[in-house]
Amino acid sequence: MTENKFLGTHAVVIGGSMGGLLAGRVLSDFFENVTIVERDEIGDSALPRKSVPQGNHVHTIYGGGARVIERMLPGLFEQMVREGATECDFSKGLVWYHQGVWKMRVDTGLTSFWQSRPFLESHVRRHVRKIPNVKIVECCDAESLLTNEDKSQVTGILVTHRNDGNRSEELTADLVVDAAGRGSKTPAWLEELGYQKPEETTVGIDLAYASRIYERPDDSTRDWTVMGLFPTPPHNKRVGYIFPIEGQRWVVSAVGYLGDHPPDDEEEFLAFAKSLELPDFYEAIKDAKPLTPVITYRYPAQLRRRYERLSRFPEGLVVLGDAVCSFNPVYGQGMSSCALQVEVLQELLKAHAVAGRLTGLPRDFFRHAAKLIDNPWLLATNSDFLYPETTGHRPLGTAFLNWYVVRVFELCACNKRALQTFLEVLHFIKKPTALFHPALVFSVLKSSLGLKGGHQRTTARPTITD
Ligand SMILES: Cc1cc2nc3c(=O)[nH]c(=O)nc-3n(C[C@H](O)[C@H](O)[C@H](O)COP(=O)(O)OP(=O)(O)OC[C@H]3O[C@@H](n4cnc5c(N)ncnc54)[C@H](O)[C@@H]3O)c2cc1C
Repeated sequence: MTENKFLGTHAVVIGGSMGGLLAGRVLSDFFENVTIVERDEIGDSALPRKSVPQGNHVHTIYGGGARVIERMLPGLFEQMVREGATECDFSKGLVWYHQGVWKMRVDTGLTSFWQSRPFLESHVRRHVRKIPNVKIVECCDAESLLTNEDKSQVTGILVTHRNDGNRSEELTADLVVDAAGRGSKTPAWLEELGYQKPEETTVGIDLAYASRIYERPDDSTRDWTVMGLFPTPPHNKRVGYIFPIEGQRWVVSAVGYLGDHPPDDEEEFLAFAKSLELPDFYEAIKDAKPLTPVITYRYPAQLRRRYERLSRFPEGLVVLGDAVCSFNPVYGQGMSSCALQVEVLQELLKAHAVAGRLTGLPRDFFRHAAKLIDNPWLLATNSDFLYPETTGHRPLGTAFLNWYVVRVFELCACNKRALQTFLEVLHFIKKPTALFHPALVFSVLKSSLGLKGGHQRTTARPTITD
């Protein structure tokens, strides 16, 4: 890499989680040096950590997200699988009960990766640590933004080193990327600098997770790798997941919507499991050996910050990942969305490198990222509006869209096109408009009129078909 290829001498990233690490990787191609500041002490650990408490709960990475990460960090997933992660077809390997039907199990060619969240993050971190011009500084809190005199340009951040007597340091940078997650301070920092805060859209779902790790039982009769049992709205609100993780274990999460929360008590955890819509989740775990206590996590609302709508924004600052949009975790879209946003940043940096300057990057980034976020946001929020208690603005057409999409979900029990299309949308490969392909609309109409090709409700778990 020649020196004149760089867009600047230094870029700083706030947050060393999925968004921050991937951003660090991409920035290393465009800046002489990159510093990722992370408030937690991490070391080489692949254990859940304080500021990423969701690490105790089920996490998968969809094909679309994994593909992008693999391009940035070649060999990552192969290594993860070698060390215990599971890769499997999202339909064939999965038994998924959703909207009152089991999805059919066919070869879709859409694979996902299943492992604990800390295992995934530690592998990404290990790869990023090997990049010579990237430095990860732990126990380091970003406190505020530094700017030029008229505050039109962010010129770095002020940090506190907590493992060095709370020493303050000014880190100057040509570009600051805020990947500090949902608790990002950029809205407050903008206000302090005399800018408007971004508008926030929230969709209240009062969700809670309770998870524990089990030894994965040896059972030659089990023909599935992953289980997801979703509730049928509006009356049922309880979800159950069984995901394989490294070390021949399962992470098992029970989830409850809208105040119907799972308990942290071990006995009651099983009772909650038994109360799901179908017995399969309880049956699978009831005799399995737990390895950890039950750990809970509350998630009040989906949150989207509309940076793309601000008329004024300083140069030299970009915000991404959960700091911009935090999706209902039940749909597993957060990390893939992070990866795709970082890819947007990469493409824009390439374009700016041709022009040889960074001016306009934040505006371009927020505009492109917003378009990308629109799709998973629509999928996640619309489904939540199937519960009347969900709070937040219901866009015009929500009821119709939900009627239609639920019919598509039902068709996923028996119609390969419906299943393939829905999964491609979920995996960030197609846009939600694909669900309105004329052939699919025709199938929905046919099944709604009770004609041939409709789904049959059955509680029997499906086997793999060709
Ligand atoms: C229960 C649950 C289950 C989920 N399941 C899935 C799933 O199956 N699939 C999926 O794709 N997504 C899932 N998600 C979403 C996923 O966890 C997030 O989308 C993802 O972690 C976002 O990454 P991020 O880097 O943007 O933010 P975060 O992971 O929140 O990381 C932010 C980082 O910034 C650091 N930080 C914060 N403030 C500062 C500061 N001032 N100075 C320095 N460092 C700072 C924090 O310590 C942290 O390391 C789930 C979420 C939850 C809650």
